[in-house]
Amino acid sequence: MKILCSYCNTESGLYFRSLDYNRKITQEVFKHYRCPQCGLIFIAPIPKNLGDYYPQSYYAVSDSTKILEEGEVHERYKIEIIQRYARKGRLLEIGPSQGCFAYFAKKSGFETEAIEMDARCSEFLNKVAGIPTVNSSDTCGALKSLKPFDVIALWHVIEHLPNPLELLEIISEKLNPGGILILAAPNPDAFQFHILGRFWPHVDAPRHLMLIPEQILVSKMASLGMKVELITTTDEGGLRWNIFGWEYFFANLSASSEINRKLRTIGRMVGKLLSPIEKIEGKGSAYTMVFRKES
Ligand SMILES: [Zn+2]
Repeated sequence: MKILCSYCNTESGLYFRSLDYNRKITQEVFKHYRCPQCGLIFIAPIPKNLGDYYPQSYYAVSDSTKILEEGEVHERYKIEIIQRYARKGRLLEIGPSQGCFAYFAKKSGFETEAIEMDARCSEFLNKVAGIPTVNSSDTCGALKSLKPFDVIALWHVIEHLPNPLELLEIISEKLNPGGILILAAPNPDAFQFHILGRFWPHVDAPRHLMLIPEQILVSKMASLGMKVELITTTDEGGLRWNIFGWEYFFANLSASSEINRKLRTIGRMVGKLLSPIEKIEGKGSAYTMVFRKES
């Protein structure tokens, strides 16, 4: 059977096989393909039971906003990036989990809403965090039902979706003129991926279904009338994901939580050592991009 790239339709060859190294929820083997034309890396076939790979422990849900207040320190840089391009208006976060960013966005003056596939997180967002949230795993369908936005944010979400390109099309329709899309995702051109290959924690099979090169997003968004405002792998989040990658790569080497902690420390040290390379623009583990819809 021919495996075709979902972006450019080119026949793609097997790139590597992987296991669920990060969470070890399943023993299944996943096949990753790489498009020789556009560089898209994707799992095929896409598992049907995707929800099974997100255990309850994947989401930290509590019954107070304390967890959200504590998370603020990690979310500030995201709002600071957004505020360079949009000061107020309607903001949608797709895939907020328990909603630290959405909560901080609301506090920063944005009228914030969300779409979230996890039922418990959605209930928490609606009832405790005060963020109107649609609970749905049909992101495209849910987005179609909402009013237009000035900002749409996807923080490490697009790589989890079986149909990211379709979602980008709907996003471009659902943004007001001059509105922005901000997204962050693992960077398949990362130095870490070249070194670690299928053991790179951001491969994260079977939750990450695609690793999308920056250039695909630039071309796709241009075709939808959206121009690039920012592409970087050296924002605060990107730099944090570099360290995360090394920590998890080493931690994944052992199942024992005792050894795990030590391995994680080694990972952090390796990360610090290699940071001059990973701080080179484009080499980092994750990119952050901002696109603006033409007025
Ligand atoms: Zn392709």
